Amino acid sequence: MLNGERLIAKPYRWAMVGGGRTGNVGYKHRIGALRDNTAFELVAGAFDIDAERGKDFGTNLGVDPSRCYADYKTMFAEEAKREDGIQVVSIATPNGTHYEITKAALEAGLHVICEKPLFFEEEEGIEIKKLAEEKGKIIGVTYGFSGHQLLLQMRQMVENGDLGEIRMLDLRYTHGFNATDTESANASQKWRVDPKVAGKAFVLGDISTHTYYMSRLICPELKVKELLCDRQSFIKSRAPMEDNAYVLMHYENGAVGRMWASSVNAGCMDGHRIRIIGSKASVEFSDHQPNELLYEIQGQPPQKLIRGMSYLYDECNADERLGALHTEGLGESWANIYLKFAVAMDAKDRGDEETLKNLVYPGIDAGIEGIHWINTCVKSADEGAVWVKF
Ligand code: NAD
Repeated sequence: MLNGERLIAKPYRWAMVGGGRTGNVGYKHRIGALRDNTAFELVAGAFDIDAERGKDFGTNLGVDPSRCYADYKTMFAEEAKREDGIQVVSIATPNGTHYEITKAALEAGLHVICEKPLFFEEEEGIEIKKLAEEKGKIIGVTYGFSGHQLLLQMRQMVENGDLGEIRMLDLRYTHGFNATDTESANASQKWRVDPKVAGKAFVLGDISTHTYYMSRLICPELKVKELLCDRQSFIKSRAPMEDNAYVLMHYENGAVGRMWASSVNAGCMDGHRIRIIGSKASVEFSDHQPNELLYEIQGQPPQKLIRGMSYLYDECNADERLGALHTEGLGESWANIYLKFAVAMDAKDRGDEETLKNLVYPGIDAGIEGIHWINTCVKSADEGAVWVKF
């Protein structure tokens, strides 16, 4: 169980690029990083593309105004001159900027926590992985839902054979918030359907990368062998950026799967679900009910497994914070991920490879696999919804 006591000797001096006042995701990073004030302290930022607004915002967060910078290049250069300069930066800017900012941060000697989708091309991921290794730095990728500890319960259930042999993965991340042409009036949505800024895909990258990573977290032994993707743009002006996609998967061990990614599932508030089906039983997680798992054993009444209870696996309860009497949610999930980033960075800085080997968190490989997922889906769809090797 986590209670905020320090897991590392000193909090990391942390900065953000992006995540400013108008940004969607910035607050989730701060909730995650600052939940345990023993892991990170926010000391600097280039929070906004609008320098003045960024400075005002950072100052309102309590950051020293002289460390609220106009842009990330100035921040990296100025902070490098200080004895108490930043040690790690989080990148919460639109997709098309991730690669150049990550590269600059590594070259400035910083650990990096970057938003998904990590970059556009796998080659960029491989190059950055090599650079991070040379510099002895950690790259964390904020698959922010993956810190829900019940996912670790699912992982242990799969590993221990509670479900039998895994046959099917039913993955879904859908909502209806883009059922109309929302981009005309919303800057955050506008770049998401612009390939120059968002990359080759919309919902496949924006939402299904999360679900894909979570499925890999739960079933690390299951590797996709080939997939078939069909994608559509129901709001025609979005084409070729899909607002709906169906993906069929064949896994190497004979299991099969499907992913439905959609932001035009009208009326759906949050349809983010993962159901793992084995030969004996199934287990299901819903992002909207992160305090319980549906566990169904063939021939028995369905069960709800409740977060924080002692009947759960230790690996799951290690990330418990509040106890079963109280609800936890997305804030705790982000905090769990950020805490693992801090532990990973600390282990890397101390040369503790043993800790790193055993730590489960979304790192550079998960980021590269996310790019591979998006690009393979797009390739399949654009070749006419055909099976392609993964
Ligand atoms: P947004 O458009 O709402 O906000 C982007 C922020 O970055 C703004 O504050 C903007 O001023 C700032 N910005 C843009 N370019 C900048 C630059 N060069 N330097 C400094 N600041 C800059 O975008 P968003 O919805 O917050 O998405 C940002 C990233 O986070 C995207 O990659 C997106 O895919 C990802 N995201 C992840 C999650 C998640 O759950 N992990 C959720 C939402 C978004």
